[in-house]
Amino acid sequence: MDVIVGGGVVGLCVAWRAARAGLAVTVVDPAPGSGASHAAAGMLAPVSEVAYTEGPLLRLGVASLSRWPAFAAELAAESGHELDLRTDGTLDVAFGADDLAVLDELATYMDKLDLPVERLTGRQCRRLEPMLAPSVRGGLLAPGDAWVDPRRVTAALLAALERLGVPVVRARVRELLRSGGRVAGVRLEDGGRLPADRVVVAAGVSSAELAGVPVRPVKGQIMRLRSPGPLLSRCVRGTVHGTPVYLVPRGDGELVVGATQEELGFDTRVTAGGLYELLRDARELVPGVTELELSDVVAGLRPGTPDNLPLIGPTRTPGLTLATGHFRAGVLLAPLTADLLMAEHIGDDGGPVEGTGPGERAGPMGVGGPGDGAGPGDFRGHEDDRGPGNGAGPQRHEGLRDSGHRAELRELAVLCSPERFREIS
Ligand SMILES: Cc1cc2nc3c(=O)[nH]c(=O)nc-3n(C[C@H](O)[C@H](O)[C@H](O)COP(=O)(O)OP(=O)(O)OC[C@H]3O[C@@H](n4cnc5c(N)ncnc54)[C@H](O)[C@@H]3O)c2cc1C
Repeated sequence: MDVIVGGGVVGLCVAWRAARAGLAVTVVDPAPGSGASHAAAGMLAPVSEVAYTEGPLLRLGVASLSRWPAFAAELAAESGHELDLRTDGTLDVAFGADDLAVLDELATYMDKLDLPVERLTGRQCRRLEPMLAPSVRGGLLAPGDAWVDPRRVTAALLAALERLGVPVVRARVRELLRSGGRVAGVRLEDGGRLPADRVVVAAGVSSAELAGVPVRPVKGQIMRLRSPGPLLSRCVRGTVHGTPVYLVPRGDGELVVGATQEELGFDTRVTAGGLYELLRDARELVPGVTELELSDVVAGLRPGTPDNLPLIGPTRTPGLTLATGHFRAGVLLAPLTADLLMAEHIGDDGGPVEGTGPGERAGPMGVGGPGDGAGPGDFRGHEDDRGPGNGAGPQRHEGLRDSGHRAELRELAVLCSPERFREIS
């Protein structure tokens, strides 16, 4: 049996995929869905979030984004929950000439990577989003970006797990049980033990203390506003006073405004200053936000790694697998994370996928990133033509059998292998 420590979006997603494949899994978490996943805005925006130095992350993000429509449709069908997945793109706006120049440079970079973006004038931006400030001078539309409500996703995953009869133990794991050089289970806070063939650590920022991995908390404060009707029809981002701010509309009239990025350890206090800055900057983009009702404020801790890439896959210690360190993209990367772990576990014919087992994939960091040979088209990710109804149902691994798909997973597995850090054993 596998024990999955942590019931955030990542752990629950891995558990659901494993259970559907017929594997015996147990999730352990004192409060599933309460970590960073509860705070997250839910942007699935690898293109508009692109940073020049983060080519490998872009590649993972694009690959995971392509999985989201089928993943959401299957999860909604099995759980009976609506996820509010929206695919209307992200609009990145600029105010001054400097901002415009930055966006233009970014657009050129994206063109080189063959990523779909459209340059827009201020007027075109306002035609798309009439509530934008008149001072918006131009923008960049990433039409392929999407977003989802992460709270609905974790609720749906919990419901789907319940339907499959997967145990979710509401308890805190105190430590990993080690025996004969391997991890053999977990010890709970009350002293109880859960033996396991494999332990998957998916405990967000707590993964560091449990498994000694280089994951640090990066605080994010975020607020939810409520409007009688939708103020925006797509995600809007911008940089105000040198700080990025975004607004994410939900189908039910909620507008999410985020998020601060603070290195303050395990501090989850919501501060007046943090909220003031968010509202001040959001108002520059969309003046009408200050009229809305404030419905929720929360601070979450993103599990950051030294290179901003997640830690997914087996470690050098038999029995210990990681699914953590997803930093600011855990919602986006959850379906891909589950696919990577399933490929490692199940492979083509019941064994691990060749080249993805421990010791077999210590490839160079940055493979596939810009500047290391990845040409246009490499970022398009997995073209997922498995629509709802003709895709992966329970106990099926068709996708993993497809050789192109497996080759892609092998390459992606290298990018996030825990083996890139010597200290992880
Ligand atoms: C403000 C903010 C905005 C964000 N916006 C986005 C976004 O737009 N898009 C995106 O993709 N990502 C976003 N993120 C990042 C995203 O939230 C994280 O990457 C993701 O939630 C990580 O998921 P996780 O399951 O690994 O961790 P978590 O969601 O933190 O879950 C970890 C779980 O482990 C449990 N746990 C901890 N310790 C133990 C233990 N000892 N025993 C048992 N269980 C334990 C916790 O109770 C928790 O439920 C945002 C994050 C923040 C803070």
